Amino acid sequence: MNRTIVWFRRDLRICDHEPLFRAARRGLVIPIFVFDRSLLLHPETGSARVAFMLDCLASLEADLHSRGGRLILRSGDPVTVLPDLVAATGAEGIYAYTDCERIYGRVRDARLNAALADHGMKIRWFEPSASLPNLMSYPQYRSRWWRDMAAAPVPTPPRIEVPPEIASDTLPALTDLAHVPDDKLIPAGGTAAARELLTQFFTDKSDRYYWQLSYPSAEATTGLSPHIKFGAISVRECVQTLQQAPDHGDFRIKRSQQQLLARLRWGSGFAQRFRYLPQLELRSLYTVFDEDGWEFDEDLYRAWQVGQTGFPIVDAAARCLQATGGWQALNFRSRAIYASFLGNLLGMDWRLGALHFMRHLIDGDCPIDHYQWAMQSGVTHCLDKSWTRIYNPGQVAVDRCDPEGHFIKRWVPELAHLSPQQLGTPPPVDGYPAPILDYAAARQKRVSQLE
Ligand SMILES: Cc1cc2nc3c(=O)[nH]c(=O)nc-3n(C[C@H](O)[C@H](O)[C@H](O)COP(=O)(O)OP(=O)(O)OC[C@H]3O[C@@H](n4cnc5c(N)ncnc54)[C@H](O)[C@@H]3O)c2cc1C
Repeated sequence: MNRTIVWFRRDLRICDHEPLFRAARRGLVIPIFVFDRSLLLHPETGSARVAFMLDCLASLEADLHSRGGRLILRSGDPVTVLPDLVAATGAEGIYAYTDCERIYGRVRDARLNAALADHGMKIRWFEPSASLPNLMSYPQYRSRWWRDMAAAPVPTPPRIEVPPEIASDTLPALTDLAHVPDDKLIPAGGTAAARELLTQFFTDKSDRYYWQLSYPSAEATTGLSPHIKFGAISVRECVQTLQQAPDHGDFRIKRSQQQLLARLRWGSGFAQRFRYLPQLELRSLYTVFDEDGWEFDEDLYRAWQVGQTGFPIVDAAARCLQATGGWQALNFRSRAIYASFLGNLLGMDWRLGALHFMRHLIDGDCPIDHYQWAMQSGVTHCLDKSWTRIYNPGQVAVDRCDPEGHFIKRWVPELAHLSPQQLGTPPPVDGYPAPILDYAAARQKRVSQLE
């Protein structure tokens, strides 16, 4: 009987998974995940995200088990582990999805191609839906995204048979991977948990998402980002579930569903753009910004990291990120305000901010994180100034994100006695710092630099 290795990477599911489906149709399957120290110990890897990934792997193992299969775990450099596994198991080849999250991964995959070719072994790469090997304009990409999202999901194999003699390592604990838990609450990982979040969206959020997605305390967003990052659910499944959900003629539900569909498309769009701009992992798109140099002051950077800037909305975001890893608690707007403060108002290198985010975010995803950071810091565009966003972190931000002050008061309890109207520019409060910068002057300086 044919034997095919399916190499899972950031596609930790059995539904809508083309490599797995095709491998199972051919015969026996060897589903493998390789713990790769180069990624596990990458400076941008956060322990909370690794903990979440372990949960997704446990869930994948259970899902494979429900179809008669199991997950084979190995550790090491995939460039040696996988050819060794092909040789040891007599597999005919490897099936895997492409993954362009990091330059390291692209180089690793090219090295693997070469290593396999040297031994006369085969690998077949599959493109995830709405991921394209060729460059195209965004309007073209948008049409392609809709087309791919409308296609029927790949069926889940009814049976997954794994050769019984192949041994697996046991699922490691976080500490076995040289990570120390950092006390963040880790959401349940895996396909069932992701589907549950979608259900909660319909029961509890779909009539208010559009209006409340900028209010972190409303927790109106889905919380799907860590699942999407590790592929515990396919974006296509999210899209089709949304499209099939009844809107009961309620324009609020309709509007919210459209908005969420657009956001899901943005996420795919960032991954696609990043594929052609891999340098954004390491530097600004317009290198002049890096060549001109960035400001750096260790005390100010530290104040920004720990939430002691004297700007309540910024400090709430800082503390929330470190305590929760951002899952459900730190939405797009609060991330953007927090990021803009470092890159624009403090004039510090956005890469330091992206690094800090990646170390803490449970949904940390290099293409979205680096691209968003670069955009918020104004270094992705040189001529078109409409892309420059310098958020005012004062009362304007409070009114737009946290009009009742719930988010700020939760994370900055020193200010719990103030009224929402005082949270933009609080009066002196014992134990809370004075603002570390003058907004108008800092803004003016950044605008001049960008021009
Ligand atoms: C500086 C900065 C860094 C960010 N870093 C990340 C990151 O590392 N990983 C990440 O997944 N998102 C990142 N985002 C985007 C956004 O904040 C998160 O996707 C969102 O908060 C995730 O919560 P959710 O799944 O509940 O969102 P929902 O509103 O429920 O959205 C559903 C999905 O749509 C996609 N999405 C939503 N908003 C955006 C957006 N603005 N840009 C791109 N995709 C989006 C995500 O896949 C998300 O899971 C970043 C934003 C900023 C400003």
